[in-house]
Amino acid sequence: MDGEDPSNSTTSLLSRSYNADTSSTPPPKHTTVPFISLLLATCLALSGAVAIAFLFLSSSPPHAQAQPNLKISESNAEYSRPLTKLKRPVVIMISSDGFRFGYQFKTDTPNIDNLINNGTEAELGLIPVFPTATFPNHYSIATGLYTPYHGIVYNNFFDPELNETFTRATGGSDPKWWFGEPLWETVVNHGFNAATYMWPGSEAPKGKWTCEEKFCKKFNSSVPFEERVDTILEYFDMPSRKIPVFMNLYFPDPDSQGHDVGPDDPELTEALGRIDSMIGRLIQGLKTRGVFEDVHIILVGDHGMAAICEKKYIYLDDLAIPQDWVEYNWAILGVRPPASYSPADVVANMTERLKNAENGKHLKVYLKEDLPTRLHYSASDRISPIIGLVDEGHIVTQSRSAGDDTCGGAHAYDNKYFSMRSIFIGHGPRFARGKKVPSFENVEIYNVVTSILNIKGAPTNGTDGFPNSVLLPQH
Ligand SMILES: [Zn+2]
Repeated sequence: MDGEDPSNSTTSLLSRSYNADTSSTPPPKHTTVPFISLLLATCLALSGAVAIAFLFLSSSPPHAQAQPNLKISESNAEYSRPLTKLKRPVVIMISSDGFRFGYQFKTDTPNIDNLINNGTEAELGLIPVFPTATFPNHYSIATGLYTPYHGIVYNNFFDPELNETFTRATGGSDPKWWFGEPLWETVVNHGFNAATYMWPGSEAPKGKWTCEEKFCKKFNSSVPFEERVDTILEYFDMPSRKIPVFMNLYFPDPDSQGHDVGPDDPELTEALGRIDSMIGRLIQGLKTRGVFEDVHIILVGDHGMAAICEKKYIYLDDLAIPQDWVEYNWAILGVRPPASYSPADVVANMTERLKNAENGKHLKVYLKEDLPTRLHYSASDRISPIIGLVDEGHIVTQSRSAGDDTCGGAHAYDNKYFSMRSIFIGHGPRFARGKKVPSFENVEIYNVVTSILNIKGAPTNGTDGFPNSVLLPQH
């Protein structure tokens, strides 16, 4: 069963931390998932996932065949490798938006393979938080928090207390939307430099993080990928005490192609090749500077991608839900009825109508407090009172249109789906070579980064001790 995970109270520190930042949001419930439970749930989910992965492998050569010369002797290295040129650990965290786990088997990705074979990989992918959308997940990676606690509950949402709607345009750089303590803030609060490159949330000033232009590149989709990589490389030409110890880098591909043409189109495969070549450009630049083996590279994605077609649409018109009640819809549904309506009655009415609606069996609606607790999606007024979980590959939209039967890709579905998984690859002195670790949720990454940097981080929803399962111990 993909069901409920037990809660515990190990996050009691969280309330104190959030209260400083979350005046407009109720304090979090104590909902950290013990790692063992996560593993069990993951294993169950993987029984199907392994079969899917096997399909990938049977149609394309896997890494193991393409790269037979894995250095097994180094994979059991007991301790981290010493720095040779840098004065202190540095982490470059790269996000490739919508990089679904398994894409790396679609085409030749020699540079990503290099990181995998000489680094540590989540063997069957990185588990995103729910909803499996770009803004919530990038900010969960950055803060180690589930969405109610970092505040970014979807890519666009309404805050009833502020009486305002968040979008990238309206809220991308306004700290009132962004709770928690992202890695760049943690790093500068410890007196080091950090550098961000279009990472969601990084434009909002927080603590000692002011988003000064030199180290904070704001969202601009027209900046060539090469320029993004070269900017990161140039930081290594600075005096060593000024080199940012944490840098991140955002690529919008292959998400955009995945939406346009779906996950299995040659256009997407081409985009993967381009991302791989950018990883190669980074590796080469670091080698030129003599720091490649000193730097920690963490390559992640925010979520996966599922193929969609119009014949799998579910129409809100069939459910008697007016458009102005709908806060978000597509691969997830969020409905906020007017105050004069009981949300429970609306759920009951929708559920009844779904029985006879086209594709109705592929949408299940809940009061948000009744959602499975493993989704961690209730403890914020920003989350719509009524949430619909949409079966993989289906879409909720308002009305039938006269359009073609278009197909493409979508995400934001339940994070139990293997198609929503992304990648985690770590390379550098603290990562064993050729190591595979079980899948884990991306809220664990914050503590992995602070462990590498040897700094004390803020409280998170991550699991105590998790970094020890991914990182090599230090001498
Ligand atoms: Zn997307």
